[in-house]
Amino acid sequence: MTTITRFAPSPTGRLHVGNIRTALHNWMLARKAGGRFLLRIDDTDAERSKEEYVEAIRADLAWLGLSPDGEERQSARLAIYEQAFEALKAAGRVYPAYETQQELELKRKIQLGRGLPPIYDRGALKLTAEERAAKEAEGIAPHWRFKLDHDEAITWEDGVRGAQKFDPAQLADPVIRRADGSWLYMLPSAVDDIAMGVTQVLRGEDHVSNTAVQIQMFTALGTQPPAFAHEALLVGKEGKLSKRLGSLGCDAMREKGIEPEALVAMLARLGTSLPVEPVADRAALIDTFDLTTFGRAPAKFDDTELERVNTAIVHAMDFAAVAGRLPDGMDAEAWHAIRPNLGVIADAGEWWQLVTGPIAAREFDADTRAYLSEAASALVWNNTPWQDLTAALKESTGRKGRDLFLPLRQALTGMDHGPDMAELLPLIGESEARARLQNAAQG
Ligand code: GLU
Repeated sequence: MTTITRFAPSPTGRLHVGNIRTALHNWMLARKAGGRFLLRIDDTDAERSKEEYVEAIRADLAWLGLSPDGEERQSARLAIYEQAFEALKAAGRVYPAYETQQELELKRKIQLGRGLPPIYDRGALKLTAEERAAKEAEGIAPHWRFKLDHDEAITWEDGVRGAQKFDPAQLADPVIRRADGSWLYMLPSAVDDIAMGVTQVLRGEDHVSNTAVQIQMFTALGTQPPAFAHEALLVGKEGKLSKRLGSLGCDAMREKGIEPEALVAMLARLGTSLPVEPVADRAALIDTFDLTTFGRAPAKFDDTELERVNTAIVHAMDFAAVAGRLPDGMDAEAWHAIRPNLGVIADAGEWWQLVTGPIAAREFDADTRAYLSEAASALVWNNTPWQDLTAALKESTGRKGRDLFLPLRQALTGMDHGPDMAELLPLIGESEARARLQNAAQG
């Protein structure tokens, strides 16, 4: 059986790290099994769903490199939900209910006051045909509930949480359809999972009790439920996700210089027993992806850890992967020289300026000026100008360590630190290097 997974965001906002993680894990699960990964846009809420978010979700998945093998939209499938609804109604598994929000609130308060769980009392099921007709004659349109079967415990083997068991009598019959005919999440999702042949539902643990209900829906619709797995939620270091990176969408992360590979590497393993490492090779991440490594405790998302992974990913990136994002003229040698100094790729321009100039002017004392003047004359241009220059100066001046190297770096780049001079000097070029040394020697 082909593994089919799906990512089912509601287009009511931008994706954030929590749902990016769910998308990634579903993608990895499908890729690992050689299966299919579907994007399902859960847009039954016409008021809150926006086309701009649908587009943003697609763009974000593309940026992350999580291309879906198919896309479906719930708003285009309403007739299919209607059919399932009618079938369930005919089977006595959905029923009309007429309570207002206030009535339901009041019932809840009374139950809580009596120390009972606030579960819908199935009042609507006790209405006679006349009472229902009277409600409708008053102009009260019903909303619709799915009738849970109380006879048997609901059980499943959860891919992350292990054996799960729910007593259906402890769950409320969920409202599946509003009085205006619009759909709530629960039934369309189950209907789609069946229609799309989804074999594995992987989502956050906030859906665990929905799963219990949906398992009964699958059965009521005459199918075997898919496999379910619920991962622990993502939290920030101090409980909440941070305002800095944790709550940002892909656009904002990209602007801050976070590479998709860094986000993917981190979210692939966060909350698992595997170490978070700057692995840019997706195949390697997919290879090690395994639901049994997922922990039950909330996964902690730490901005600094993402930055650390990002820096390591940037340092290992090939020129070909970044060429289009570098300043004009910056070639593979320059990228190689500058790369270890970068936190984010956008900083390459600042370092590249050390090659192209102008560089910051520095003041040197008389002694150092004499040394730099000697350096200007000692400069010989060959394949290893820096090594040869420093070797010659060490010999002729007796300087070593910092005294030998720092004034040269300062005169040649205007800075106290930066890329490896052996790589940088050939990029600066002979005449420019000599001019910088002479210039510094003159003070
Ligand atoms: N649209 C639902 C959500 O975003 C989908 C949940 C699911 O994966 O079934 O929570």
